[in-house]
Amino acid sequence: MENLSNRVNSLSPSATIAMNQKSRDLQAKGINVINLSVGEPDFFTPDHIKAAAKKAVDDNFSFYPPVPGYPDLLKAITEKFKRENNLDYTPQQIIVSCGAKHSLANAMLSLINKGDEVIIPAPYWVSYLEQVKLCEGNPIVIEAKFEDNFKITPKQLEGAITPKTKALLLCSPSNPSGAVYSKTELRALADVLQNHPGIFVISDEIYEHINFIGGHETIAQFDDMKERTVLINGVSKSYAMTGYRIGYMAGPLWLAKACDKLQGQMTTGATTVSQKAAAAALSGDQSCVAEMKKAFKRRKELVVKMVKDIPGLQVYDPDGAFYVFPKVNAYYGKSFNGTAINTSNDLCLYLLEHGHIATVPGEAFGDPDCIRISFATSDEKLVDAMNRMKNALAALK
Ligand code: PMP
Ligand code: GLU
Repeated sequence: MENLSNRVNSLSPSATIAMNQKSRDLQAKGINVINLSVGEPDFFTPDHIKAAAKKAVDDNFSFYPPVPGYPDLLKAITEKFKRENNLDYTPQQIIVSCGAKHSLANAMLSLINKGDEVIIPAPYWVSYLEQVKLCEGNPIVIEAKFEDNFKITPKQLEGAITPKTKALLLCSPSNPSGAVYSKTELRALADVLQNHPGIFVISDEIYEHINFIGGHETIAQFDDMKERTVLINGVSKSYAMTGYRIGYMAGPLWLAKACDKLQGQMTTGATTVSQKAAAAALSGDQSCVAEMKKAFKRRKELVVKMVKDIPGLQVYDPDGAFYVFPKVNAYYGKSFNGTAINTSNDLCLYLLEHGHIATVPGEAFGDPDCIRISFATSDEKLVDAMNRMKNALAALK
């Protein structure tokens, strides 16, 4: 007899993972699906990082690691923060986990009590809302509007704050919109938080290096914000290491200690071999990061141009990350062979079944007018996919 917890029963499955699986299932049946659903670089992990993983196996890194991470990796992370963000953290303020998704979960489980409100700008990454719900918190969604380049304003933030607000979740560069907050914009949000000292910021900066407009800005750079911000980052996107499952958090010592305690009961730490590979990634030659960014920028330009060429779509030209998030609602109300397309879910299923391209419905990101297209794949596949999309949409009447 099924007898699951309310916690799991009320949890939605991850739409990004679900679309990826659907696409894999069709591919396994021999259908030539182009998968633009899941957000992961198509590049192979750079050789010097792979070599470090192989060496870790040969050097017998097969025993339990320290719960917060190996000292050399913690040191590499503190050096990364100094080198790239001019931020000073001690190794004790860093916790390495099984992916940034896990770092986020640790931070939320450590911060959020039942009934606490967490402000989440929409469109948001699929897992934020569900993780807040898992912690029995209340997600308070505010709309980062297309017209505002998918960024929230200080006024919106102020309007969403209540005595129950525990945290603000920021993601810049953003998945799925590609919006990137400038230093001035972050300062303006920090100014609002000045009047609300109890509010913490969870800042997801996993796309830090995939930024097409210049240097990365973090809200933790402001002295008055650093002690009330937890930075979430990882190696998945910047170093093409999604399967290694290494993410990390940096924040005040009391929070790091809590995540350490939690992790000691949940996973005992992250995989040894992956940690050694991550240390090589963060402390080694960084030219691979710049090379991949160059490719993403070229692909972004290609996709934005092709999406703009499809009648009825409106697209924000992303400043970072590797997604475009066009408005597709002009197609709602149309149909194909008698089947109506009324939502972004309907449209994504139609594009999958009839166009053989996998995308993710905007509903899952809190914006039902849009769909998400990942451009972390080859130029050839992108051109093919966008042609398929144009043809499939043209067939809707
Ligand atoms: N945050 C955002 C915004 C993401 O898109 C992802 C996607 N993987 C993650 C966190 C988690 O990354 P990972 O667990 O692979 O480090
Ligand atoms: N973050 C990626 C995405 O949004 C990977 C999938 C996931 O972790 O949910 O597609």
